[in-house]
Amino acid sequence: MKTQPDIVVVGGGPCGSYAAYTAAKLGAEVVVCEEHKKVGAPKHCAGHLNISSLKRLGLRVPRDAIENEISGAVFVSPSGREFVLRCRSPVTYVVDRERFDKHLADLATKAGVEYRFKSRVKSLLFDSGIVRGVALKGEGKVETNVVVDAEGCSSAVLKQTGLAGLKASETVRGIQAEVDGLEGVDEDMVEVYLGRNVAPDFFAWIIPRKDGTAKVGLATSTGNPHQYLRKLMEKHPVASKKLKNSQITGISVHPIPLAGPIPKTYSNGFLAVGDAASQVKPTTGGGVIFGLTCARTAGEVAYEAVKNRNFSESFLSRYQHQWKRLVGFDLSAMLWMRRMLNSLSDNRTDNIIGLCNRLGIDETLEKFGDLDFQGRSIIPMIKYPGTIAVISYFLVSWLTSQKKQ
Ligand SMILES: Cc1cc2nc3c(=O)[nH]c(=O)nc-3n(C[C@H](O)[C@H](O)[C@H](O)COP(=O)(O)OP(=O)(O)OC[C@H]3O[C@@H](n4cnc5c(N)ncnc54)[C@H](O)[C@@H]3O)c2cc1C
Repeated sequence: MKTQPDIVVVGGGPCGSYAAYTAAKLGAEVVVCEEHKKVGAPKHCAGHLNISSLKRLGLRVPRDAIENEISGAVFVSPSGREFVLRCRSPVTYVVDRERFDKHLADLATKAGVEYRFKSRVKSLLFDSGIVRGVALKGEGKVETNVVVDAEGCSSAVLKQTGLAGLKASETVRGIQAEVDGLEGVDEDMVEVYLGRNVAPDFFAWIIPRKDGTAKVGLATSTGNPHQYLRKLMEKHPVASKKLKNSQITGISVHPIPLAGPIPKTYSNGFLAVGDAASQVKPTTGGGVIFGLTCARTAGEVAYEAVKNRNFSESFLSRYQHQWKRLVGFDLSAMLWMRRMLNSLSDNRTDNIIGLCNRLGIDETLEKFGDLDFQGRSIIPMIKYPGTIAVISYFLVSWLTSQKKQ
């Protein structure tokens, strides 16, 4: 048992484990404190991950963690119009998050990381304003030089540093049901349902597995997510037909931060990563790939701090500089996209889906689109007339909605 590790990571989710793995592989002594008795449970995530991004991270997902391979998406407008984006080969995996998280924790353990389960971090320990460790629920404490906060979106630990955490108004409430008996859904396509009455300020989804089961979910900025889910499954003109013989076998509710990253992700002896830092795509709510990208940087910077015996805020600020270089532009661009999407009336969403069909932008999207790096992938698309028309319509709709306010 490590008595005074170099680095303590709060939370054994994907970002905590990946930061821990990176730092340990470089040579640091790392302890992960996880409040539950194992990683990956309880599950709340759809686990829809871009294959090329996983490759970019150098991560091979074990076969038994892959529930499905997806080749595209069907976007269903509020009035039931469809836009189908089908690629020639699979572009995403649907992963079982418990197995995926376990795989990352196994990698970390093999690199020398020690996991302490049922270890809820109650508070940070400070010495002259510098984070020096964590106090655990019950009696224990762990002293260290760097705390990497990967606690997810509760922000409870982060706020003790004085950093601005997430506000409830900056999250949407996500709900996801495990269902069986799915009918009429292509097994290699996800379905995305749009509309202010379907999922205010977000969207609903059906993500099929090969065996006729699926993950059905949505997120909403207002109202009761359970009621929206029931409405989707029982009353939606398109989705309800596919779900009419489905039984719910499990359900989870969890917030999704959508306001873009928190302004400052470091402090003396402290780094925040993943959902804790809101490094989540504001368009889709996907937080795994960008969270892992930033977690790797956090692990590297925490290790450098240990090597240089410098845990000051000014040294650790390189973390923010580096993750911003990797994903900052895309996160900012997606925040704008989210604001524009939220400003659309159902009528305009219908028109956009109609435009995408008429102008045949599916080929341009297949060629240049990237599920994760959505900001930079727009740039090469701008020269295509179809995309120009859709973007222009978006902008006009958004400007009109701004004038009305
Ligand atoms: C309904 C829904 C669907 C989603 N679908 C997708 C998707 O398809 N693709 C995608 O990329 N993203 C998706 N996301 C987002 C994704 O789940 C998160 O972005 C991702 O899990 C963030 O990883 P993390 O490691 O930062 O935090 P988490 O996965 O939340 O892990 C945090 C860990 O910290 C532990 N912890 C918390 N507080 C403490 C404490 N005080 N002490 C000790 N341990 C603590 C928790 O137990 C947990 O294990 C979805 C989210 C929701 C809600």
